[in-house]
Amino acid sequence: MTHRITLIPGDGTGPEIVEATRRAIEATGVPIEWDVHDIGVPALQKLGDPFPKSALDSIRKNKVGLKGPLTTELGTGMRSVNVALRKEFDLYANLRPGRTYEGVHAPMGKIDLVVVRENIEDLYAGIEFDINTPELAEVRGVIERVAKTKIRTDAAIAIKYISEFGSRRIVKFAFEYARTNKRRKVTAVHKANIMKHTDGLFLAVARRVAEKNPDIEFEDRIVDNMCMQLVLRPKEYDVLCCPNLYGDIISDLGAGMIGGLGLAPGANIGTNGAVFEATHGSAPKYTGQNKVNPMAVMLSGVLMLRHLEETAAADGLETAIADVIALGKNVTYDLKEKRDDPTSVGTSQVADAVVAQLKAGA
Ligand code: NAD
Repeated sequence: MTHRITLIPGDGTGPEIVEATRRAIEATGVPIEWDVHDIGVPALQKLGDPFPKSALDSIRKNKVGLKGPLTTELGTGMRSVNVALRKEFDLYANLRPGRTYEGVHAPMGKIDLVVVRENIEDLYAGIEFDINTPELAEVRGVIERVAKTKIRTDAAIAIKYISEFGSRRIVKFAFEYARTNKRRKVTAVHKANIMKHTDGLFLAVARRVAEKNPDIEFEDRIVDNMCMQLVLRPKEYDVLCCPNLYGDIISDLGAGMIGGLGLAPGANIGTNGAVFEATHGSAPKYTGQNKVNPMAVMLSGVLMLRHLEETAAADGLETAIADVIALGKNVTYDLKEKRDDPTSVGTSQVADAVVAQLKAGA
């Protein structure tokens, strides 16, 4: 059966690493018809709309997408289309597995962790009020009245909301993922000591879901302690289930622990579809230089193949990537001990090596 996949090249280094990934996935032999669409700044430039209907319709129809990173300006400019995409399709679970492959110069030895991040709610919901706006004045007035507190008039405000529904479905997802993938433990990450009603709700729901899943071990950690524990005793942890913001930060910490963002894949999964993308961003300073590591997007492709139940192809591609890393010859600068190592190769040479490895293993 031919799979129809929406392919979003992204911007910055996105098009280069997505092209490398497309080649690697095609070399597995799985029949795929790519439906290529832009969103974000490239779509704005070409079609005058950062969130074009044609791209959204394609994802809606195909139910599976592979996406390159998209730049979001710091502070100003348009809101993140990455976040908007997750909201549009209710891709509520952000799955970010990270493990150390042999040959990687990882600072903490062998790591095997999975971050399950709630993808819709929390401070990431984008409910923010800018300074000097009438909306802010109104919101501040309400908060000051009901919370009986003062907020400085030169403060911007963001709303953090966490629901029982959103918490339950992400924790259930974490347990189901743990069971299906033979993982032993789920750790809920929170700051319920300070944020009693939002993170407190997340933790209470997590405990209730855990009671219904007694076959998987459960514990919780306060997020600051979690960071310290991960650095000190990473092997004690397995699946980390986090609200949105902590999940984003912890997954970059996890990426550092396995040797860098160039190896950290991800999936955004909902009940009606899934979009696969690396943890990292568009690394804009390297745009067009054939420089950055395509393996995080390739490994996201491995997750996609598993989602499509193309298990043999997924295993084959992951093995080929692991072999290229272990051989150490055809890897990008980020996988070298010294980042200025002149023997490092470019994005497309990594794709060549992975494709060759796949063919050799076939
Ligand atoms: P980044 O992830 O792009 O880069 C952080 C660091 O990691 C940089 O030093 C970069 O060069 C390096 N890096 C990233 N990917 C790499 C790769 N594949 N190989 C080797 N090195 C790699 O983070 P940033 O610089 O904070 O963000 C750049 C832009 O990307 C921002 O506009 C941000 O909003 C956006 N972003 C998008 C997504 C997404 O599309 N899902 C995710 C995160 C950030």
